[in-house]
Amino acid sequence: MEEVNCGLCGSFPETVEHLLVNCCYARNILSVIVSWVKLSYAGNSGSIQQVLELLKQLKVPKELEQKIWAILAVTFWLIWKARNAKIHDFKECTVNKLLSNIKLVSYLWVKIGATGSA
Ligand SMILES: [Zn+2]
Repeated sequence: MEEVNCGLCGSFPETVEHLLVNCCYARNILSVIVSWVKLSYAGNSGSIQQVLELLKQLKVPKELEQKIWAILAVTFWLIWKARNAKIHDFKECTVNKLLSNIKLVSYLWVKIGATGSA
C-alpha cells in the first residue's frame, strides 16, 4: 500500500491516530480544548485510547461528562472535515478558525441535547 502523508501537516504518514491526536494541528486544538474543560492532558504523543481513558476517569457530574464527550466528538469530526477541505478543495483552515467552529458547533450540539440523553 502506498503511504500517504497527513493531509494537514504533510509531515507524517496519515493514520487516524496521527490525524486526530498526534498531528501538530490536532495537538494544538486538543490542548486548548482540554483547558476549556479543565482537564489535565499531557498533549504529547497520546493515542485516541488515552484520551478516551482520561475521559472515563473524570470525576465530574454526568451532565458535564456528556458535554465533554460531545465536544470531543465535534472536535474529531471537524478535524476530519478540515483535512478533507484541505485535500479536496485546497482550503486551509487555521487552528484558530477550527477552534471557533468547534466552539460554535459544540454549543449548538449541547444546546439541542445531541448527547444521547432524551
Ligand atoms: Zn499531521
